[in-house]
Amino acid sequence: MWNPAPRQAADLQQVAEVIAKRDDWLIVTHERPDGDALGSAFAMAEMLSSLGKSWRLLVAEPMPRRFSYLPGFAKAQVAGERTDRQFQQVIALDCADQGRYEGVSAYIADEALVVNIDHHQTNPRYGAANYVDPQAAATCELLYHVARQLGLPLSEALATCLYTGLLTDTGGFSLPNTTREVHEIAAELLASGVQPYDVAEPALESRTWPQMRLLQSALANLRLQEDGRLATLYVTRAMLAEAGADDDDAEGLVGFARSVDTVEVGMLFRETPDGKVKVSLRSKRRVDVAKIAQEFGGGGHVRAAGCTLGLPLAEAMNRLTVAVATELGRA
Ligand code: AMP
Ligand code: MN
Ligand code: MN
Repeated sequence: MWNPAPRQAADLQQVAEVIAKRDDWLIVTHERPDGDALGSAFAMAEMLSSLGKSWRLLVAEPMPRRFSYLPGFAKAQVAGERTDRQFQQVIALDCADQGRYEGVSAYIADEALVVNIDHHQTNPRYGAANYVDPQAAATCELLYHVARQLGLPLSEALATCLYTGLLTDTGGFSLPNTTREVHEIAAELLASGVQPYDVAEPALESRTWPQMRLLQSALANLRLQEDGRLATLYVTRAMLAEAGADDDDAEGLVGFARSVDTVEVGMLFRETPDGKVKVSLRSKRRVDVAKIAQEFGGGGHVRAAGCTLGLPLAEAMNRLTVAVATELGRA
């Protein structure tokens, strides 16, 4: 069988050496964690356990329930008001920059050593050791190589975590980041005992009733602009309350904006609990949305990016619409 090879072999080796050499790790990932964030975090926890190392997996906010099938899910901790200790060693997963794990920064010593494993093209390599590959479909693809480099067997538990990130970051093996490597690795994970539907059903397919109600009200404000090439959706605090939904329930709505056949760029705007506006950008083939998100202090990938603006909803929508219109003019 064809063997998927890592692209940054030297970086991979360095990261694996640092992980193997040290103990007592803090595992962190980005706020509002998605399937790749949690899949890679729990995969790393599994790997550290098999190496006989101690670790703590800390997230900034309550864990999305749809990922509760992940092995070890109950062992993750939510950052509390009071910090019991600080860690000297941190592994940051799927975090484009250090601001992405700001919510747990009280647990990290100033002089802490950071291992940065990520696949965002906007990642500035902020770690002491960095394994950053923007060509990887998911951080979980990189963790597959880390497991191999460390000589660890692909247990069913580890494979289930890795499969979760591959599946969700490729939109169910359909987005443009889906490659031969992704399918080769996925096939190997299935050989390790992953049951694809047991992952896909909770992680991708199923929606709660509040999510469905939120979808109904969000689709009511779907708008087309720029000759149908831009579609926008928004979610207000009132819409969330009305639907009985929480912030995480808006995850995935932006896909509906992108899916309109004439659309090149889809955007979702949502009001955050602290009065800001979180923007999700998606494109199909031409527009680099990471570049647009970066103009507003965010980042991400060429076809999927995000940023947060401290502006009222209408103004945030106007600003981003102008920026996207400019890029569509160039595309
Ligand atoms: P989202 O729209 O939140 O689903 O994010 C789309 C992609 O962009 C994901 O890969 C995120 O990790 C990344 N992303 C979102 N917001 C930011 C940000 N503020 N800074 C850097 N990357 C981001
Ligand atoms: Mn992510
Ligand atoms: Mn990712």
